[in-house]
Amino acid sequence: MNRFTRTVCPAILSEKWEEWGNRYSSNRVRNPGFSFQWPEVNGKPLNQWLLPDLLAMTQHHCSYCDGYPLRLADKTIDHFRPKSNPEFYGEVCKWENLYVSCGHCQKAKMEEYHSGLLRPDASDYDFFRYFVYNYTDHTIHPNPLAVIADQERAEVTIEILHLNESGLVEARRMEYNRFFVSNPGLLPEIYSFRFILI
Ligand SMILES: [Zn+2]
Repeated sequence: MNRFTRTVCPAILSEKWEEWGNRYSSNRVRNPGFSFQWPEVNGKPLNQWLLPDLLAMTQHHCSYCDGYPLRLADKTIDHFRPKSNPEFYGEVCKWENLYVSCGHCQKAKMEEYHSGLLRPDASDYDFFRYFVYNYTDHTIHPNPLAVIADQERAEVTIEILHLNESGLVEARRMEYNRFFVSNPGLLPEIYSFRFILI
């Protein structure tokens, strides 16, 4: 999980997100099977308006695992606080609840949520505050020097996002080798998993 800075809420959301959240909430309460659709704005679904801004914030990387480049099918918007949880119905279009995410992370996270789950755009987030990276086997672990509460948040984040799933571990190993061993001298921005490279 690489740190990024969230930009201010785009104008397209700022006036309407609460209204859209309330509408989804009442539809969902009336009909528990109601499925969320992005509202249309000027003939285009809202997610298509938001994706360019979300992608620019992460430099086109996945917000969670930092995978790059995202394939077209992978450019999905994740609701950090799941839209299936009645507590969060109102946040379905809230800017701070939306993260661009790759297929792996979407599949891992699904509707799971935990209050300790780390946000890559939190002002006090830093990869090495919470995690350590094993440069031999390319797994990620809670930082043993962190305070217990931070270690617990790191553990929850690793679990929910399946950050040590074998395919992802292998992808990190390959990226590490590409960067440090082949070292073609490219800018770090075009690599996945920048938290281990920089
Ligand atoms: Zn990801």
